[in-house]
Amino acid sequence: MSVHQSAIHAPQSEWADLLRQRALGTQISHDLGNLLDRYRRHSDFYRDRIGMADSWVQVPPLEKNQLHDLPVDATTPTQEARTSGTSGFQVTIHNNRREREFRRALLYRPQLFYDLPQSVTQVVFVDGRWCADAQTKPKEFTYAGRHYRTWFVGASAEPAAVLNLLVTLRPQLIRGIASGIVRFIHESSRSLQHIGARIIGPGGEFLTNEWRTLMQEAFGAQVLDRYGSTETGAIAWQCPHCHRYHANSDEIILEAEPGGLIATPLFISSQPLLRYRLGDIITFDNDKPECPVQLPTIKIQMARRDDWIIDGAGRQVSPLSFQFEQVPHLTAWRLHQLSDGSLHLYFDAEKPEITAGLLDQHLAASVPNRPRRITAGIWKLDRPGKFKRISSDFTLSVNHAGAGTGKPV
Ligand SMILES: [Zn+2]
Repeated sequence: MSVHQSAIHAPQSEWADLLRQRALGTQISHDLGNLLDRYRRHSDFYRDRIGMADSWVQVPPLEKNQLHDLPVDATTPTQEARTSGTSGFQVTIHNNRREREFRRALLYRPQLFYDLPQSVTQVVFVDGRWCADAQTKPKEFTYAGRHYRTWFVGASAEPAAVLNLLVTLRPQLIRGIASGIVRFIHESSRSLQHIGARIIGPGGEFLTNEWRTLMQEAFGAQVLDRYGSTETGAIAWQCPHCHRYHANSDEIILEAEPGGLIATPLFISSQPLLRYRLGDIITFDNDKPECPVQLPTIKIQMARRDDWIIDGAGRQVSPLSFQFEQVPHLTAWRLHQLSDGSLHLYFDAEKPEITAGLLDQHLAASVPNRPRRITAGIWKLDRPGKFKRISSDFTLSVNHAGAGTGKPV
């Protein structure tokens, strides 16, 4: 039996074809013993960690707070990415250029099975407030013979600017932060079907049935969700054929543990994650759907789900519009909106006196005109909520653009 390797080891021009073939082919089994040897060879960190374990499950899961001790292979330059993870704990991961490009190839995998033209116009909702206009030069990318032209809009950008861009470009595909798309739908308060989008591909957050229906009805388009994390890359994607979530299990070993999902992305070798605990609750389906895609299917039972914040003008602020990753020395944060509308941000940092001021500025810009309090110490929040970084007890008394409460609808 030949040992299965990540497609990253093939020439880059073959990645899309390989990912397609593997999705359609028979399920791949991983040689776990061989893999453990590979991790042992990476560093003393893993040699010690794996120790005498002779089976995969004996290796203790890698927790978020252990990431900073994990050495980075310096033979090729790497870039850092910071994320608040699922819990508000800041983690930093390192990937080299090839790994970052492979992550994109994996992210685009679902589109191999979408009904799209050869040249695709795409608008993606990302963190932040910035919004492209039709004159902005798009990002160009060719994948599996299809040419993608991509424009980006911030999850908390001016809705009028986003609408203007969508009406001008008429993108076939709209992707990105689910709460950003939902906020835009609420604030534009009119049908968006004339834009002519074919597929809405939300991601980044747990997609409720309410959000799915809202997107479907607003755009008159098919909604195909994606599930992944900054640390591991794209984990699973909703399939246009069977509508279930196919797991990229040829590239990421997934263990659906009762204590939360454990993931091992096989394509990362600069700072490899062995049995990394993500914490979301997923289950594998026992039955196989009628579908040309042979990758196993999962159900996401519980994943990151933050509440909305409402600013002083009564406008919704997407939970993913906070870019606390950019605040230096911050190690953890949680944000709570009290029933009187005021905000309370709890944080941990290496240099709290510097970080507090920066957080205050950041929060004032993101949520204008609300009283706010910043408190060092993440554990003082009464209601920690396993899957919440942002929680709200605030209910808006005036019904605003179809969104009456601080809670997600
Ligand atoms: Zn399918």
